[in-house]
This record gives sequence, structure tokens and C-alpha cells, in this order.
Amino acid sequence: MIPREIWKTLHIDYFAPLTKWGKGIMGRTNRVYPHPNQWTFENTPGRKPLDQIGVNEIYRALTATKRTAPNCMQNWEKRLGPGIPWRAIAENITKGLGTNRDTSSWFKNILHRALYLKGKGGQKAACSACYQENEDWIHLWRCPIWARHWEIIIEDINKMLPPIQGTERVKVGPDFIYLGIIDEDTTPHVLPSSLALLHAIIWKYVIMELYKVSQNEYYKVSANEAFRKALRRYTTRIRANLRKAQKARARSIHQEYDHNNDLINKKLQPVAHIDDECEEIEWHPVVHRWLALAGAEEHETITPTFTPEW
Ligand SMILES: [Zn+2]
Repeated sequence: MIPREIWKTLHIDYFAPLTKWGKGIMGRTNRVYPHPNQWTFENTPGRKPLDQIGVNEIYRALTATKRTAPNCMQNWEKRLGPGIPWRAIAENITKGLGTNRDTSSWFKNILHRALYLKGKGGQKAACSACYQENEDWIHLWRCPIWARHWEIIIEDINKMLPPIQGTERVKVGPDFIYLGIIDEDTTPHVLPSSLALLHAIIWKYVIMELYKVSQNEYYKVSANEAFRKALRRYTTRIRANLRKAQKARARSIHQEYDHNNDLINKKLQPVAHIDDECEEIEWHPVVHRWLALAGAEEHETITPTFTPEW
């Protein structure tokens, strides 16, 4: 038995205003940033609060600027030509496999062209990786220090994405290297989300090397290290989906409903596949080499190969 209508006095000092993100609690208002109601994207319809922004708003934010001189998109179109699949690019960012931590470096520095390049304005400044040519956007994608590694990745991706009418899907060029565009000679597409994540993560580590050399001119960039670290991070990120699928399966057994991995497998193809029992992640044969490059602990756990259906 409890007495009714008894009110306890709480001192107002104990009240902490909370900020919500969507339906969840983000934290104490004075500790969180950005406040969803105080920030939005430029050019989004209705100036929605940040926590309600999805792929449509991001797409609008990217394309609306077409009317008011969009530096990054216009510049890319000037260089690569029209027909860049912006919507698909935006979808890979918002609905893809990666987190902000994986993709934001590429998003800001490359897609938005914020990367600091010493010779960007036309002034002569030797590339800090190869010292051979002017450091600008014309050079960066074909800088011999990085290009060698990009070529290997492109060759691998062409083994994973079967040719269309005898034409390889990915070409060595700025379209792919900067924006992950494939089929550039016919109808440009973007990489499937699984490989778009790899593309963004590679840039993250390349940019990290470029940053180190910008802070210390004696630092020697290592493309080998950058690509190796990127592959390690990438395979770890992909593998994390197995754990997630296992949890989802356990929940489904507990709550007695059917479980399958169709949704995640659609996102993972052609890189990997998780069987419905969630016992193991099966890698595309090409990825085996990446696993070996990424480091022994990833390599040990690989299972027999899986061949995608297409
Ligand atoms: Zn260079």
C-alpha cells in the first residue's frame, strides 16, 4: 500500500535539459552537438531539423545548388563531364554500409573538393608524394605513388563486376578514382555499396598520409601502408556485419520468427555473403587477396570461396 497524492519536492538544480535525436535521447543539452533543431542542410525543403534529414534532403542539398552555383558539383562536372550519378552517390553515403567515420573524409575532401593541394590555384608546387608534377586535381589521381595501387584495386574490381557487352566496368581515370564512377563510357553508375565503402576507406587513408606530409615535409608517404591499412579497416567493417546478423538471428529464435540475411547480403554483394545460419562470412575469391594483405588475423578465419550469381 502506498499513500496517494504525495508529491516529492525535487530541487530545480537537479533538472538537466535533454536533447532528443529523432525518438531517442541524444544526451544532456549542454553536452551534445549538433543540436538537431538548430542545424539543417542548406537548400533542403522545409529546412528540416538535422535528425529528420534523409537521402532525399541530402540529394536536394547537393543538387539544389545547381541553381546557385554549386562549387563542388559544378567543378566536378566541368572536369568529368555531365551525367555524374549524384543521387546514387548520395545513396551510397546515406544508405551504404559505412559509418560517418569511414566515409566523411572522402565526402569532405574529395567529393566537396576541400582537400588542400599546394598547386591548386595554378602556382607551381611539387606533389608532396612523388615530387614530380604540380600538386593539383589533374595530378592527384594519376600520381605514380598512388596510381599503382589504384590500378591493382581496379583490376580486382573488374574481376568482381563482370563486363557488360565485353567492356570492363571500371577504368583507370579520374571518374573512378575520385568519385567511384563505373561504366563511364556508356551510362555512368556508381559502385555497389559494398565496394563504394572500400573506395571511401582507401581515400581516408590516402588523405591521412597527405595530411602527415603536410605537417612534416620530411615525412615519406607510404602508399603501401595506406592501402594495407585501408584493406584491413575495410575487411573488419564488412566482417562486423556477421556479428550483427548473428545477433539478429538469435533474436529471431528467441521471439520465434523467421530470419534471413537477404537484406544485408544484397548490400554485401559481390564482396561477401552470410549464410542464413550466420555461421561464417564467405568472401568473394578476389577478396581473399585483400584479406591476406590486410593482416594475418583476418586471413586465418577465411572460409572456402563463394561465387556470386552474377
Ligand atoms: Zn605525385
